[in-house]
Amino acid sequence: MADKRDYYEVLGVAKNADEAEIKKAYRALAKKYHPDMNPDNPEEAEKKFKEASEAYAVLSDADKRRQYDQFGHAAFEQGAGGGGAYDFTGMDFGDIFSDLFGFGDIFGRRSTRGNGPMRGADKTVDVRLTFEEAAFGVEKEIEVDSKEECKSCKGSGAKAGTTPDTCPNCKGKGQVRVTTNSIFGQITSVQTCRECGGRGKIIREKCPDCRGTGYTSIRKRYAVKFPAGIDNNGLACKIPGKGEPGVNGGPRGDILVRTLVSRHPIFQRQEYDIYSTVSLPFSVAALGGDVLVDTLDGKIAYEVKAGTQTDTVVRLRGKGVPSLRNKDVRGDHFVKFVVKVPERLTKDAKEALRTFDSLSGDYLNAAANAGVAKDKKKGFFGK
Ligand SMILES: [Zn+2]
Ligand SMILES: [Zn+2]
Repeated sequence: MADKRDYYEVLGVAKNADEAEIKKAYRALAKKYHPDMNPDNPEEAEKKFKEASEAYAVLSDADKRRQYDQFGHAAFEQGAGGGGAYDFTGMDFGDIFSDLFGFGDIFGRRSTRGNGPMRGADKTVDVRLTFEEAAFGVEKEIEVDSKEECKSCKGSGAKAGTTPDTCPNCKGKGQVRVTTNSIFGQITSVQTCRECGGRGKIIREKCPDCRGTGYTSIRKRYAVKFPAGIDNNGLACKIPGKGEPGVNGGPRGDILVRTLVSRHPIFQRQEYDIYSTVSLPFSVAALGGDVLVDTLDGKIAYEVKAGTQTDTVVRLRGKGVPSLRNKDVRGDHFVKFVVKVPERLTKDAKEALRTFDSLSGDYLNAAANAGVAKDKKKGFFGK
């Protein structure tokens, strides 16, 4: 969907809007476009309402917002050829509305809750990468614990030979209707049955293999490609349909692979640029010459100018981290040179430095030459 509107634009907030501004903007839009408040044009209103809700769902979640800022709508596409729409099925509107307005499911009648088929939740898996792996991309096999239907009870959670009872509270529907007063007037909302947790069934004798959950855990392996340029907390990829199992025949959620990037002993990364500090021998700083600089591509000899001062920063163009969008486009590497004063000198080196001093200003004798008396006070440790 190329014509999908920018989430910030939808909510009418700035890119750097804080949580409170986003919430406020959404609250206003949700009131304005709530279908019950727009009896003349409920479909258009519902479309707007959903658009705003989708924008809010993403921008109010720090992780999702970061992904969106990084990748745009592509961050939430369902694999290749996906529609590009944010997937609502895994989203809990109830939480948003109870948070905003103090009541639950706003689309009660169309709720995906209850004991109808429901898509499973997405599962986020964190994978640690080295600095270089993240910069240049890497393929890795990852291991993920996957919830699978228990073979002993075929997912029912009931002990072999027994069957679960229909929940008496919801009569097996998994939901109960609750009427509440709200800013929109009296609203009948549908809530998940507390007795059975929405399953519509109650297990009397639990399956011993899964302790009544209906699921067992199996470790599965997946080959994952981490793109060059991925940063800490970046979304590396989605493994569709391998997340948490759906309920009542619903599809599984996805696995979201997130990267944690280890710190590098020398390099610091900011977006696609790299920063490092290199110590520069006093003689090279004064006379100019080559100094060895570590870069992502290995050591290079950088020629500094004669008279380079300490804290001089130079830019190595294109030596930074490849961009996620195009790995041939790389950031820059900024090197700060810190001039190092020699601490241990041989007798000859000292002699040479004294000669150097007398030739370059006689600083060693500056006080005597100016006729200024020496400060006799001893230092901190003198007494
Ligand atoms: Zn079982
Ligand atoms: Zn129930």
